[in-house]
Amino acid sequence: MPYFFDAHCHLMTFDEPDFIMFLKQIGGNISKEAFNSMLSPDYLLDFRNKKLPLKVGNLINVMSHSQSQIAEIIERDLQGQYLAANEKAFATTERFTFSAHSFDKYVICPMVMDFTSAQALEDIYYNTRSSKDAFWHADKMLASIDLFYQNKPATLLEILPFAGINPPAYTIDEIERWLHSYFNNYDPQEHYQNKERAHFFGIKFYPPLGFNPWPDDKDERAKAEVIYSYAEKHHIPVTTHCDDEGYRTTDIEISHHHTNPETWRHVLEKYPLLKLNFAHFGRQYQRTHFMRKQEAWRNTIIDLALTYDNVYADFSFNGVAVDYYSDLSNRLTQLKKGEQRRLKERLMFGSDFMINLTKVSSYHQYLKNFEEADLPIDDKLAYAGDNCRRFLFEKVH
Ligand SMILES: [Zn+2]
Repeated sequence: MPYFFDAHCHLMTFDEPDFIMFLKQIGGNISKEAFNSMLSPDYLLDFRNKKLPLKVGNLINVMSHSQSQIAEIIERDLQGQYLAANEKAFATTERFTFSAHSFDKYVICPMVMDFTSAQALEDIYYNTRSSKDAFWHADKMLASIDLFYQNKPATLLEILPFAGINPPAYTIDEIERWLHSYFNNYDPQEHYQNKERAHFFGIKFYPPLGFNPWPDDKDERAKAEVIYSYAEKHHIPVTTHCDDEGYRTTDIEISHHHTNPETWRHVLEKYPLLKLNFAHFGRQYQRTHFMRKQEAWRNTIIDLALTYDNVYADFSFNGVAVDYYSDLSNRLTQLKKGEQRRLKERLMFGSDFMINLTKVSSYHQYLKNFEEADLPIDDKLAYAGDNCRRFLFEKVH
């Protein structure tokens, strides 16, 4: 029963992001933000790109759909419904095909983002907070998945969502209630979505919202640790955002400290069995003052993956340009044979759809980049197959 996995994507509509926190951050630091984007020429919105209005239109139109409709868009795109007549689709209604290998199901893991901030909104007139908290986001995702399966009982897709939480915005009691609400019946054995009643398969953290994974403050540490120990005990996979760009509501230096995989080293020292995935494989867009590329985060992740058997990295978003895969291949060949083999068991394919539409025209095109990438086919199949399966379902001891 071979399944193909996209370990990291989003079904995000305009209903979810907390635009006010984002604006506050940009507004308060305009010169620093401008400087930062000058040093990160490769990232999200490249304002010199003439095709930008078309790309933004593509993204905005996707986000104008509901979450279940965005899942339908992915399936339709796999089945070629948006393609020109001469282009080949990846899937029929029954099967998905990748480089002549055939799969029964296409699995997507949408990451729920909890945009709830711990910061107060004291400087605006209507300063009450919206009630869209981690519970609201989680319930909405589950309802959307239920709706998707009601509408499409014979779908090719399996939807295995991750629930997001921003711990500083909650009390420890609320965090425990959240864990019990969404992971009470969690069972790590290989299983797929309950078509009657959707549930979660993992936890998502997003440090640029102000979450320090290993804070010095005793109370904040306790909140983080209650999640790590629960996840470790119940074999729940955890994905943490790990590149130096993206939506951010804290100061850039603080955000980079929290996102830096070195900060997670402390977590792994205490919770060595935690199944932890560094999303985007620690990609750093910010260049040094000499415009040199930085690789420290990726090197740290490689070191952590070789030290801890349950550390993974997905390369979602990075594959928007095909040359990413040659860079990845070069990095892998620098490792000793045994290390290379072990690391190749921890890398996962991910799209970061619909965020990736800022840089790529479609889900289809992102997959096509991966299919055409200059990597051995067995490695590709592991990245989109067994590695994801182990991260999601393996019981670790
Ligand atoms: Zn993402």
